[in-house]
Amino acid sequence: MSITTPPKDFSTMFLDMNSFFASVEQQVQPTLRGRAIGVAPYTGATGCIIAASKEAKARGIKIGLVGEAKKLVPEIKIIEARPALYMIYHKEIKKVIESFTPYFTPLSIDEFKIQLTRQDQNEFSAIQLAQKLKTAIRERVGDSLSCSIGIGPSTFLAKMAGERKKPDGLTVVTLNNLKQFYSPLKLTDITGINWRLEMHLKNFGINSPSDLFNLPVGELVRTLNHAGRLWYFRLRGYEVDEFVVKNKTIGHSHVLAPEFRTRDGAIAVLKKLIFKAGYRIRAENLQAGGVAVSVGFLEGGGFHQSKKFPAFADNQSFWQNVAELLKNCSWRRRPIYLAVSAFNLIRPIGDQINIFADIEKSKAVSRALDEINDEFGADTVFAASMFNSRISAPDRIPFGMPRYDIKHC
Ligand SMILES: [Mg+2]
Repeated sequence: MSITTPPKDFSTMFLDMNSFFASVEQQVQPTLRGRAIGVAPYTGATGCIIAASKEAKARGIKIGLVGEAKKLVPEIKIIEARPALYMIYHKEIKKVIESFTPYFTPLSIDEFKIQLTRQDQNEFSAIQLAQKLKTAIRERVGDSLSCSIGIGPSTFLAKMAGERKKPDGLTVVTLNNLKQFYSPLKLTDITGINWRLEMHLKNFGINSPSDLFNLPVGELVRTLNHAGRLWYFRLRGYEVDEFVVKNKTIGHSHVLAPEFRTRDGAIAVLKKLIFKAGYRIRAENLQAGGVAVSVGFLEGGGFHQSKKFPAFADNQSFWQNVAELLKNCSWRRRPIYLAVSAFNLIRPIGDQINIFADIEKSKAVSRALDEINDEFGADTVFAASMFNSRISAPDRIPFGMPRYDIKHC
């Protein structure tokens, strides 16, 4: 984090695709255009809508149960999610951005952060670049695809600006209009403020983002400790969230089909889950600093352990770390549920070379496998031990829908 570098206007652009999965479906199936649709990994009434088209959103549909959405909008069309398709579109969008600037980072499947170069750090050039990106995505990727773009002194402010107008927005926030920028917002409109933090702040008489913004740093520290200091600078456009992406985890869980309810079956599926999570870690350019694994047993009870490890991003280290924890697991009962995740995720500064050369090599192998799988469809290449488990854990939600978020302290 950097509290010493003063913030500068027009430093960062945040591009967020609107209703991404739903828009991709409307792009490839023209009959869905202009209609209320919801995308769900499972299309039954208890399935969960993970993306709604802008037409559905306009009628009050949000992320939530399919059954509830159908009550609200009976003619809503529910589409089964196709993660591989959304990945293809993600890559096409990436290519478009790449054709304008090399200084960008995908933050999730539908969000990109673009660092503006000195020559673009002015109102005219920044807005022009944003408009060119919007047009190029429409022309080269698909005319159903719109995005909201925010421009600001930091990732946090650019993202918040991007959220100001959806769909197809373009909003600029500058250091001298911060007061006006915060004034219409509720606390929970602020990225990183959830209902829990909101409650805490309200207990201290902080009822709005403006209240928070007006508080002197000393008072914020008294209220929130170190996080208070971060909020003080974050709200003023300092890039305090640069390298720690989020206090999030990347992981997968899976309920075992009857034929996999053995130790070997569970381990084969676990490797598949690790393979998928490892892919996401690398696709988001992250390194992990810890793993957690859970096994639930059919007869009741479970095993759960987590531990910090030296930074890794390759499947082999990921598996070795999980295997180390599993040494303590007794497999006397039949496993039925598995969950594995990586935590302490960081995005390394620049293209840092890992000091452990073999980890780097293993990461290169993992990346090569990812590329082949990207090219020819997931699961083209996989470790031999995953053979049995391939069908058992289908890809459901790409990236598990991570969002740019800030770290809660
Ligand atoms: Mg989006």
